[in-house]
Amino acid sequence: MNSITNLLDLEDTDIEITDIQIQDQTKTLTLSTPPVPHFCPSCGFRMYSRGIKKRTINHPILQDNYSLVLILKQRRWRCTNPECLYDTSESFKFVNRQRRTINATDMLIVDAYRNLLETSVSIAKKFHVSDSHAHDVFNRYVKLDRLTLTDAISIDEVFLDMDEHCKYALVIQDFHTGDPIDLLRSRRSNVTDPCITVYFYTY
Ligand SMILES: [Zn+2]
Repeated sequence: MNSITNLLDLEDTDIEITDIQIQDQTKTLTLSTPPVPHFCPSCGFRMYSRGIKKRTINHPILQDNYSLVLILKQRRWRCTNPECLYDTSESFKFVNRQRRTINATDMLIVDAYRNLLETSVSIAKKFHVSDSHAHDVFNRYVKLDRLTLTDAISIDEVFLDMDEHCKYALVIQDFHTGDPIDLLRSRRSNVTDPCITVYFYTY
């Protein structure tokens, strides 16, 4: 069993840790795969290694106290057939080719939005991404249609007692249908101020 793949819940089992650096609150692990012969997926000729490209990937697993950075040593291959010259780089299941965060991060970001105390800014900080990226991820997975505003709304409070700052949530509903329009975590003015946006969604 490979402990790194278990620890990080990575799907690629042949990954090895080749270096560990710890500086302050950041742990940097260098990951690579052992060299194995590659054959061209296009023509079947043997491929030769064109070297290794280093990619930096953020992993949210140690988000509370440590940030974890994975440096992925990605091998690049080219076909030896002069007629073909097919070019490819090693792929890893746990991260998309063009991305800088692991695939599981998206779902962790969406899940973080369930907490009404979180904002795009606080979530972005936790996952080491920009707040616009956190917001984009939310929009990618959660469909929030813009509905036309009803001609009458009703406002009520619900006792939640989530913490000292969030005892009563403010519920805004369509007066006619009772459908929720928005849910704010508190009735206090620092929350109800119009410049603060609170996202509400149901599954
Ligand atoms: Zn080829």
